[in-house]
Amino acid sequence: MSKKPARLRAWTFVALLAACHAPTRESSRVITPPLNETGAAPRNAPGRPLPPRPSDLSWPIEIAVRIEAAEGQGRLILENGSRTLTVRRLGEGLEAGGRVHPRLGFEASGPGGEISWNGKRYGGRFEIVPHPQKGLRLMNLVDLETYVEGVVAGELPLWSAQPAELEAQAIAARTYALYTLAMRGALTRVTEPRHASLSDSVADQAYCGLPANALANVESESSRQRMAAAVDSAVQQTRGGVLTREGRLTDIRYHASCGGKTSNLEAVFPGTESGSVGTDCPCDEADAQAQKREWKYTFTATQLGALARTLGVGDRIVSLKPVQKQPWRWSEVQVAGDSGQIQISFLRLRNLLGPSLLRSGRIEGTWPHPGDSIQPGGGWAVYGAGHGHGAGLCQTGTHLLAKREWSSVRILRHYFAGTVVQTL
Ligand SMILES: [Zn+2]
Repeated sequence: MSKKPARLRAWTFVALLAACHAPTRESSRVITPPLNETGAAPRNAPGRPLPPRPSDLSWPIEIAVRIEAAEGQGRLILENGSRTLTVRRLGEGLEAGGRVHPRLGFEASGPGGEISWNGKRYGGRFEIVPHPQKGLRLMNLVDLETYVEGVVAGELPLWSAQPAELEAQAIAARTYALYTLAMRGALTRVTEPRHASLSDSVADQAYCGLPANALANVESESSRQRMAAAVDSAVQQTRGGVLTREGRLTDIRYHASCGGKTSNLEAVFPGTESGSVGTDCPCDEADAQAQKREWKYTFTATQLGALARTLGVGDRIVSLKPVQKQPWRWSEVQVAGDSGQIQISFLRLRNLLGPSLLRSGRIEGTWPHPGDSIQPGGGWAVYGAGHGHGAGLCQTGTHLLAKREWSSVRILRHYFAGTVVQTL
């Protein structure tokens, strides 16, 4: 890890008045589009722009990350070494140090500076703005490669991660960030620069701040150093590497475990980029049984009743059956209630019932069987495999392929046929 321990540094405290704010990427308003499961803005609108070529991107690129745990809090305490600063929401503005500001920016002085909030360490700088509904919003603004380090450490179990697995994750994280921000209207020269942001949760990509945060519970100093060095090496080895298709950034998605076969991107996310087709994955092979992540869950009549009311099909669910675009994964679902029926995407059904309960669309059986009647007061049992939406790169499969000495490029091209790794 390249970050140096925090030393005593003077706060560089900047009150950014919206009125005199330069009309650059840092507009006075944070644009946060509505999120779907992966956090991406809807991309199925007619006439949506083509993904950018790497040469279309404006430099330097600074990634703005929303710290979800801070969303809406009334007070934030920020630290830099031994110094502490408290920010509160006051009316439409912020109060800090006895003064009111429309927004605030904080950074540690000197190279390698660290700032922290809630016991977690971050590089770059913080920006605090009023939350659109209530309380405060905390943003961490970091350079692209520091962001990628934080995603690699946030997404993967570092104690077991292989070098090629870390490298594939770094390229995937970099590509996702640039593609997503560009499609949300930031980064390109051809559109008016706007301030779009990424979530630090799996709604976009799990970002942990500095990699040290992901290693805080590792007792052995030598193990911490080994894992931190592995993350640093993977990011350095792939520095600037992104996945492109026909010269343009790829719509890259990934998930924890596909259950043995990934799906076409379009089948899972209607209206998204075509050409990203499903493929076989080793995560259900005999040597990977522990990784297969088979699961089962029984939804109760109460949970099903809430679903029926949310969908406006009555007070209870009568039956559920898939409308599948690919035989191994539910894509659309016909939901019948006691006073109506509706066809919805599996992603919506999963979000409504709970992504941690209905873990994936690779469903191997249900009781009652699909389409059969669920008795009044009865439940709906689901048996499945995998975890996540199942399109794009499978992280469990990537781990297994890396152990078989596949390179990161070979792994990425397996899950995203027709793409190449290009350096920015
Ligand atoms: Zn898989």
